[in-house]
Amino acid sequence: MDCLFCNIIAGNVPSTKIYEDDQMYVFKDIAPIAPVHYLMIPKQHISGVSALTEENAAVVAHIFAVAAKLAKEAGLDKGFRIVTNCGDDAGQTVHHLHFHLLGGKQMGWSAE
Ligand code: C5P
Repeated sequence: MDCLFCNIIAGNVPSTKIYEDDQMYVFKDIAPIAPVHYLMIPKQHISGVSALTEENAAVVAHIFAVAAKLAKEAGLDKGFRIVTNCGDDAGQTVHHLHFHLLGGKQMGWSAE
């Protein structure tokens, strides 16, 4: 298994777990860019948004529903952001679909 996030799900690579169910896993980003920075990933290996299909995309709705709950639990009442990078131009470094849940500070907006 050469996928880092598959190894995190399997427990072969340590992570700080926030949430887990049969479809998804959530852990703290190792290099946070906000006071709250979680990574939300499907347990099924999907390389990124460009690999989503009608057959495998239902997990995305589930991830977002859980995100709303986790944001509330983290006290992000003033707002939060969910980001996914897809491909080299976007800066995707791990090729297992993941959504960054960011919050706890005022954020700007830029595509730099
Ligand atoms: O969107 P992108 O592919 O760049 O995000 C990958 C994220 O995975 C980074 O924010 C990085 O800090 C995080 N990471 C992690 N634990 C690792 C390796 C990477 O949280 N062991």
